[in-house]
Amino acid sequence: MTRQAIVAANWKMNGDSALVDTMVSGLADIKLSSHVDVVICPSFPYLSELNQKIKAAKLNEAIHVGSQNVSEHESGAFTGEISTAMLKDLAINYVIVGHSERRSIYKETSTQVAKKVHAALNAGLTPILCIGESEAERATGETETVLSAQIQPVIDDIGIDKFIDVVIAYEPVWAIGTGKTASSAMAQETHQFIRQFLAQQNELVSDKVPLLYGGSVNAANCEELFAQTDIDGGLIGGASLKAEQFKIICSAAKGK
Ligand code: PEP
Repeated sequence: MTRQAIVAANWKMNGDSALVDTMVSGLADIKLSSHVDVVICPSFPYLSELNQKIKAAKLNEAIHVGSQNVSEHESGAFTGEISTAMLKDLAINYVIVGHSERRSIYKETSTQVAKKVHAALNAGLTPILCIGESEAERATGETETVLSAQIQPVIDDIGIDKFIDVVIAYEPVWAIGTGKTASSAMAQETHQFIRQFLAQQNELVSDKVPLLYGGSVNAANCEELFAQTDIDGGLIGGASLKAEQFKIICSAAKGK
């Protein structure tokens, strides 16, 4: 069995129609290994436009569009929120859930994040579940406790068998947007811990779930990071806004 690699772009609250066009034309000649999916996650207003332009330009079929967030609720009086049904209606298949900015700025709890993962899976969306420790938590040796406490509520909510359809993005909070990347050895060690944590509950799930690394990944460091045994691609912020850089990062990913 080859485990799928994924390179996901998180545009955060950046970008516009011009970036949509630049990215679509920039990715026209992209070279991807087999077993690699690329997921571009713009802000809500550009989801449909990006999806349609990718299809119209007949880009590589491994290039998909994803949302940066979704509501855990089905529908109703939740002003400003977007439902899983709306994403499906726009033919979107991936969603980032529990990004550290959602957890820290918008106070999303791991229980709420678990509900979002549940809602996404129920709708047939692939959730990219973000987890990661702060600098202080790493310094005090709490990394593994923090990561376990972020993953377990999801397993408790959906059940370990359904976790086979989840993608995990490990993003140390101190490495996001700071230019400070975890060393490839440190990232591998943490990914190995995550895989073992899953294996204790289900080995098949542990073998199959792609574990992405996120935190200041760029064209210069992606190859070494993606070469690590338990790193199956990345979640890319800043470098995903530049088509040339993003293309290099995507081309460095390989299924394992
Ligand atoms: C992110 O937004 O998830 C991220 C990892 O950002 P950056 O690559 O800019 O650190």
